[in-house]
Amino acid sequence: MSAMLAETRPDEATATAEVLRGERKRVVIIGGGFAGIAAAHALRHADAEVVLIDRRNHHIFQPLLYQVATAVLSPAEIAAPIRQLEAKQRNVSVLLAEVTGVDLASRTIEAASSGAGVRKIAFDYLVVATGMRPNYFGHDEFARHAPGLKSLGDAEKIRAKILGAFELAATTEDEGERARQMTFVLVGAGPSGVELAGSLAHLVKVTLQHNFHRIDPSKSTIVLLDAGNRVLPTFAEALSRRVTRRLTKLGVKVLTGVKVETVDEQGVVAGGKRIPSATVLWTAGVAASPVPKMLGTKTDRAGRALVDPFLKVVEAPGVFVVGDAASVMQNGHPVPGVAQAAIQEGRYIGRLIAKELKGRKVKRPFSYFDKGNMAVVGKNYAVLERGWLRTSGFLTWLVWAFVHILSLPQLQNRLRVQHQWLWFYFTGQRSSRLIPEQPSDA
Ligand SMILES: Cc1cc2nc3c(=O)[nH]c(=O)nc-3n(C[C@H](O)[C@H](O)[C@H](O)COP(=O)(O)OP(=O)(O)OC[C@H]3O[C@@H](n4cnc5c(N)ncnc54)[C@H](O)[C@@H]3O)c2cc1C
Repeated sequence: MSAMLAETRPDEATATAEVLRGERKRVVIIGGGFAGIAAAHALRHADAEVVLIDRRNHHIFQPLLYQVATAVLSPAEIAAPIRQLEAKQRNVSVLLAEVTGVDLASRTIEAASSGAGVRKIAFDYLVVATGMRPNYFGHDEFARHAPGLKSLGDAEKIRAKILGAFELAATTEDEGERARQMTFVLVGAGPSGVELAGSLAHLVKVTLQHNFHRIDPSKSTIVLLDAGNRVLPTFAEALSRRVTRRLTKLGVKVLTGVKVETVDEQGVVAGGKRIPSATVLWTAGVAASPVPKMLGTKTDRAGRALVDPFLKVVEAPGVFVVGDAASVMQNGHPVPGVAQAAIQEGRYIGRLIAKELKGRKVKRPFSYFDKGNMAVVGKNYAVLERGWLRTSGFLTWLVWAFVHILSLPQLQNRLRVQHQWLWFYFTGQRSSRLIPEQPSDA
């Protein structure tokens, strides 16, 4: 056990404890997502004590969350325990806690763990890698009826909502209510909205076929809404048009240039028209986690910390922000909020700190290498954009599948996902079609 954890005993339960400092410099990393893990890994040979704090005990491979939400995969297949880093890397301690405060003056953070109270942890270097959360653009009340997709809990909730809607549609005698239960509205036509819509279209047409005598799931309505004028706005227009055609072919109604005004228990009001729906999903926008704001330094409109080209917070020496939580400009363009950028930033900052610990200075600023953007639209079809290269179709989909399998966090995830995908591909069946029971009082 590391010095840091040994000094924080369970009987300090609700006390506030300043964790004693060891001999070595301490690097505190907040967030065990793509950026935080890459930073910790890059510090593996550093003569430093690395403390990785996350409020979850697992790292999530977010690009496949939509497949958990649509019952293709189960949560464990796209997640890996963060704690196993301690087994792999001797200088890392993992702490399950939520960071609730940062004090740059005393160079400490506050971390709250369930049952262990709040502790103060001192740092020499601080890396904030806390990612994003759904953004309801000033309408937080929408969240009650339109869950976002960011965690495994969200994905399971969405899965239960979708599958539950068919069960209710099959039991009601009311035609209007049946149609409402079988109408799915997705707000936001970025990659998450497009991928969810495509997978949902396949679910209703193929997987659920013949599963109900009283309803025909293929008669469901899937609406993909966006206030912007096209789907996948970060891709080239030509790809965006192809994706719209593909979605339409799959039976998805794509409505662009339509703003959502209300989301309530009956559905949505968008562009002045009510769409009755029992399942509204929010895939529209993201805002930074609250941690960058806790630094008290400059943030952009989405709450991301403004950092210099070395990913440093200018007013705070030894403090860095990486991944989705950082607002980084390169050649006049923002570095995109994607997994590759987060990994590259995390790795860069880990190496930078390792060098500084050796008394060396890093002269080269962070440089993002764009490996390309991909999105999948149902079975057998994906789009890829990389520089001037734009491709779509079955071969691109194969590349997408290959890249995603290879990028999963551990071997067991890769084997399990491969297995599930083969089963799904050849049978159309999804092995995670579960609506968890509500816990009973008994
Ligand atoms: C549904 C979805 C689909 C996506 N699809 C793609 C895709 O296909 N391709 C792609 O490149 N990108 C995709 N992305 C984006 C990509 O996942 C992010 O860019 C990437 O996860 C950012 O990494 P990060 O390390 O900055 O943040 P994250 O991976 O979000 O990790 C942040 C971590 O910080 C922790 N944390 C937050 N606040 C606190 C706190 N106060 N205390 C302790 N811990 C905290 C969280 O628990 C989390 O583990 C997708 C994102 C989503 C949500």
